Formats: sequence, structure tokens, C-alpha cells
Amino acid sequence: METHTAVVHYALEPLAVELREIPVPDVGEGEVLLEVGAVSVCGSDVHQAHKTHSWPVNVPVVLGHEFCGTVARIGRGVRGFREGDRVVSETAAEICGECLLCRTGRYNLCPSRKGFGYGIDGAMAQWVRVPARCLHRIPDSLPFDIACLCEPHAVAYQSMCVNSVIHPGDLVVVLGPGPIGLLCARMAALSGADPLIVAGVTADGPRLETARRLGATRTVDLQQEDLDEVVRGYSAIGADLVCDATGASRPLEAALRLTRPDGQVIKVGWSPDAIALDMNPLVQRNLRLQGSFSHNYPVWERVIHLLNRGLTMPEAIVGMRAPLQNWREAFDAMHDRRVIKSVLLPNKQ
Ligand SMILES: [Zn+2]
Ligand SMILES: [Zn+2]
Repeated sequence: METHTAVVHYALEPLAVELREIPVPDVGEGEVLLEVGAVSVCGSDVHQAHKTHSWPVNVPVVLGHEFCGTVARIGRGVRGFREGDRVVSETAAEICGECLLCRTGRYNLCPSRKGFGYGIDGAMAQWVRVPARCLHRIPDSLPFDIACLCEPHAVAYQSMCVNSVIHPGDLVVVLGPGPIGLLCARMAALSGADPLIVAGVTADGPRLETARRLGATRTVDLQQEDLDEVVRGYSAIGADLVCDATGASRPLEAALRLTRPDGQVIKVGWSPDAIALDMNPLVQRNLRLQGSFSHNYPVWERVIHLLNRGLTMPEAIVGMRAPLQNWREAFDAMHDRRVIKSVLLPNKQ
């Protein structure tokens, strides 16, 4: 049997992740086999490895949902793709195709959705099996080690440009300068947010510097400065939009407090912690509290365009490129905030 090397999350315990030799998947009807070109490490991969995640995981499972590659084998009934095509893949590996959400194109919210890397084998491997409906062709001018970043870009686009409305000149605050927070800040900058404030802790220093490169007009070290005061310095009534991209629950309280009456809070980061929260500001100030989860077809087409045009400055967030064998180093570098984003190159010698 043909085998390949994969990063496998094998048990629901902290650090139960290792490299394994496993069988190369067969392709069924409507599926293709991709030779993985690049797969970026997501905060969620690191959370799974440390057992600090908020979603059910089917172990054993191959990690990795931010990936692109070359079509290598084609299953029966696949149309529109040929061997050798360069593609990125969406993450909804399994959907029902029948429910209201699937039928209205919002299959990212299908109750039966299973994603790569936790529900279905992902792409931290030499090969990955993907339903052809997940694929988007990418231009030759877009290298794999950048194209794999489509997924986090799609998360940020969905939260700032689909689930939120930003008008030029809006005061926007982003809490949490991790990869998603930084990309949310970039989407806000592209949408005309000004002022654009990004806040983090002292250990986020280099990330806040990156936030300024990506268009933040002001960054705040929460351990040195009072964010409320900074925001009120720009607008006495508060921010038009606050994006909570921290991987925690507690900052939602600050997000609600910082938002102006009739403004919006968008929550994109999550954690397993349940908190008690005063909901009165939500009612009293007529706020909109919106969650944002995943993304769908039009968002992917849009971010492929943005990435190909260089409009999101993806190089600013990639701090490490490594072979699959160095997956642990790539995870640790993100976990310890030494890099914002690591990219694994499973088939590069
Ligand atoms: Zn991700
Ligand atoms: Zn469905």
C-alpha cells in the first residue's frame, strides 16, 4: 500500500500530535487527490495540539485546513479540473447539501459541516483528498506559500466585510493581534477604517508593529495604556465597530463597553471558557453583537484576487517556512509568539 507522511492528532490529550506514515487516500466520486503545495499553521491547529480548542475533534485526524496544491488524481464525475491544475481548497470537507443553509450558499453554517483537520483528514501531509466542490483555481502568479493563506484571509474577510459594515472614516478597534486579528485589521484598513486601533498585550509588541505596517493608525499595549481612554480620545461616544479577535471570552466585555450606541461588535476569536457577562449595555445602547464563522465561495474568489494583487501584504505575517518534519518547531514558534504565521511545505525537498 502506498503511504505518506502526515501530522496526526491522535488522542484528546495535550500534545498528542506526531508524524506518522499513513496510507495515501483513495479518491471517490466527486473527489480529487491534491499534492499539497503548502499548508499554513492555524491558531486552531496549535489549540488542538495543546487541547485548548472549543470544537469536537475526531481522532485520529491529520491536521491542517489552510492549504493549496496541485491536482494529482481525479475521481469519477469531477468536472472542470484537470491533473496539474493549481488550486486552493475551502474547508467545508463535508456538508449535507440539503438544508436551508446549504441551499442558500451558506454551507459554512450547515449543521452537518465537518472541516478538514478536525472532522476529516487535513493537509499537513504530502497528499490530501478533497471534494472538487471545495476547489478554486489560482493564478500562476500566486505562489503556494502565499496561496495557502487564503483561508485565514477568508475568515477575516467574512468577519469584517460580510458580517460587518465598515464605512470610510469609521472608528474601528481590533482586539487581539494574532494572525486573524491582524488580517481583520488589514481588511478594515482596505475598507477605509480610520482611525484603526489594534490592541494587544506587551508580549504582542512585534505583532503590534506588524499591525501598523498593515494599516493600523494606532496600536495600544493594554498593559501600558488605557484603551477606553484612547478610544474616547478619538470619539466621545465610542467605536463604530469593535472586532474581538482574541482567543478568549472575557474581552467581549471590553468590546461591548468600547462600542458606540447603535454600533457593532463582531466576535471572531473563541475559547472554551464560559463567562458571566453583563448584557445590559447590549440593550441599553442598542448594540449589534455578531459572531463570524468560516466563509463561502464568493469570499474565496474575492480573497484570491486580493492576495494575487498583493493588497493584503501577506508577507508581513509569514515568519517561518519549514518542511513537514519541522512541524513541532513551526507550531511552537506560533505558540510562543515568535512568529505570527508558520507555513509548512510537505513536498519540498
Ligand atoms: Zn485557520
Ligand atoms: Zn446542510
